[in-house]
Amino acid sequence: MISPLVANIAAGPIMYGVMSVNEYATHRWYQHAELSKAKWYQKLGLPTIKGGGHVEHHAETYDDMSLRDDAKWKKNQSEQKFRF
Ligand SMILES: [Zn+2]
Repeated sequence: MISPLVANIAAGPIMYGVMSVNEYATHRWYQHAELSKAKWYQKLGLPTIKGGGHVEHHAETYDDMSLRDDAKWKKNQSEQKFRF
């Protein structure tokens, strides 16, 4: 049996690792819809994954997460999707 002290110390890095793997998988295969491009996925006839607008989100933000706001971008169809 592992001691409670060791378990408590190990819990942080283990949870960080588990959440990082989850974030990677969700981001790559769902949000960027790469799962839908896999031949095995298509053969199973599963529904197409669209990623919930995540790719458009990348297009509308700069690396510092500020929003793109220039005239060329405002004419883009992806930008139009975000207008309410
Ligand atoms: Zn992304």
